[in-house]
Amino acid sequence: MKIIVLGPPGSGKGTQAVRLGKYCRVPHISTGDILRQLVKGKTFLAKRVKSYMNSGKLVPDRIIVDIVSGRLAEKDAKKGFVLDGFPRNLNQAEILEKLAMVKDKPKVFNLKASDKTLVKRISGRRVCGSCRANYHVEYNPSKIMEKCANCGGSLYQRDDDKPQAIRNRLKVYKKESRPLVRYYAKKKMLVSINGEKTEKEVFSSLIKHLKK
Ligand code: AMP
Repeated sequence: MKIIVLGPPGSGKGTQAVRLGKYCRVPHISTGDILRQLVKGKTFLAKRVKSYMNSGKLVPDRIIVDIVSGRLAEKDAKKGFVLDGFPRNLNQAEILEKLAMVKDKPKVFNLKASDKTLVKRISGRRVCGSCRANYHVEYNPSKIMEKCANCGGSLYQRDDDKPQAIRNRLKVYKKESRPLVRYYAKKKMLVSINGEKTEKEVFSSLIKHLKK
């Protein structure tokens, strides 16, 4: 099972991609998570990548393609995967097609939501620094004040979830990533899903389409 989850920041693609990975028993591969791990280091590359991410810009294709092709070549990804955050532009989509391990067509889901919903969701998002669990100050607060209910880790707001970066990320999404919707629609690979609904409802729609 090979799945690509598309959608603007805040559309819930990360949450749904995790659930799809578990459901299909294939690895969930999030380029955002891989990059956030990478920028914890003190290397020159880490510093460079961090400056792109914090301002809401896309990391250069050369860097991201190396990361993704390495990850897809790992043994666990042979049986399938859920890609979350990749591809993010047309060039990346074309490269993905050329990667030998993605020859057969993946299923592409596009989660749709209005800008108003996206901004509200992103600005209230809090992430656990230890286990990466996601919360929302309003819709899904942790039961423990500012701590993760799963592991007790501290919750923080991602730098790129702050107002200026959110505006940039939405702008970058519209210019760079939204053309992917037409690209995959033309190839008859796209299934659009209403991402405004609850997490449970969105997941049910995804599963319904997977079973078709
Ligand atoms: P995400 O967690 O998917 O929202 O990604 C967070 C940030 O990581 C993005 O705003 C980009 O700066 C960077 N990033 C993630 N995936 C990609 C990608 N495929 N291409 C370029 N940059 C990416």
